[in-house]
Amino acid sequence: MNLDALYPWLFTGAAIVWLVITWQQNPPERRAPLTPPPAPEPPPFLPNDIAVEMLDIGVMYVSSDGVVLHHNPALRTVLRIDGVVDGQTIMSLVRDHQLDEFVRDTAKKRSNDEMQLHQRNPSRSMRVVARPMVLPSDDVVVMVLIRDVTQINQLERARRDMIVSISHELRTPLAALKILSDTIVSQPPPEIAQRMALRISDEVDALTRLVDDLHDLSQIEAGRIALQYAQHDTATLIAQAIERIHPQAETHHISIQAHHADDIAPVMVDRGRLGQVLLNLLHNAVKFTPDGGSIDISARVIQLPAESAETAGMPIDHSEGEWVLFAIRDNGVGISLEHQARIFERFYKVDQARTRGSGTGLGLAIVRYLVEGHGGRIWLTSTVGSGTTFFFTIPTATL
Ligand code: ADP
Repeated sequence: MNLDALYPWLFTGAAIVWLVITWQQNPPERRAPLTPPPAPEPPPFLPNDIAVEMLDIGVMYVSSDGVVLHHNPALRTVLRIDGVVDGQTIMSLVRDHQLDEFVRDTAKKRSNDEMQLHQRNPSRSMRVVARPMVLPSDDVVVMVLIRDVTQINQLERARRDMIVSISHELRTPLAALKILSDTIVSQPPPEIAQRMALRISDEVDALTRLVDDLHDLSQIEAGRIALQYAQHDTATLIAQAIERIHPQAETHHISIQAHHADDIAPVMVDRGRLGQVLLNLLHNAVKFTPDGGSIDISARVIQLPAESAETAGMPIDHSEGEWVLFAIRDNGVGISLEHQARIFERFYKVDQARTRGSGTGLGLAIVRYLVEGHGGRIWLTSTVGSGTTFFFTIPTATL
């Protein structure tokens, strides 16, 4: 037998065996293609634009019968959708008749349109813009742009409320100043002129307080107040605050007692700002306590979370560590539960009539910012007719 004649056959046989083995071990679907597959063709209606994919506004292309044909990644975030989007109807994705009808109408009318979409739970507002696109086949695809405007609306509302409150707060003392000064111009008897002049001085003080509080609040909110932290003796800070409020308390025969351990731990604070917090709370306590009443200011060190359950009403999300818990207790008019919930809001006043001396309604908003700026929390307990206690925490110098 001539072996030379067999070689080509042997070689071909070996090649076939090798191919069969390779094929079995590595079927076609597992093998990497030699060239990458071509990028999928964008649907014909899509402006082949990477910008749409990168927009932080939700974009979807919807057929005239309300089926989503294509969408960008931001749409999932804006509409908070997890699953499949393309091929689904708007109704099944968003469960909103209004949006579904709006898109279908736009396709029918073949003209641009806009709407506001409001969702409950959680409450959100979205601005929806629809642009119909007529395809060569005369079918219509609607490009829908959806933007979450909840935060923008909230900020706008807060800005409007703020302007209304400020103008209201300014109008009252300005009107009083106008009447008082007109009276003086009319040359009344000297004792009346003297009384008017004193009232003008009071109104100017109130206006100055308002402007100072507004300035403080705007600086704090803009993050422009940098707290200058240093270690300070807690007992001294309390004694200084009592000394400053003393003349006012004395006028109304109100006594103020301090309660704390002699060796209470020092705090890490901005001295001026903590003084402002204490003075503001003491000032309110004096303002709402009847003549002859009493006010207690106490301080003690607490370890969190070990003691949090013991301190009634303490916010559960309080940070751990060692804190000084301050409490300012008065036996004044008290604050009902309904008002307690809003007491730290800007310009919130419970009842003008019951106040001794006027206020801006900004004091507690500033106090809360300052306490939280130190890392602490502020809260209160109160019983109408019996009195109020404001609590707040400040880190000890060892935290
Ligand atoms: P204001 O500068 O007008 O006092 P605050 O922000 O300090 O404003 O207080 C808001 C409202 O909370 C006050 O109008 C007052 O009605 C109420 N309030 C604050 N502290 C007390 C308190 N110790 N007892 C009773 N009511 C208080």
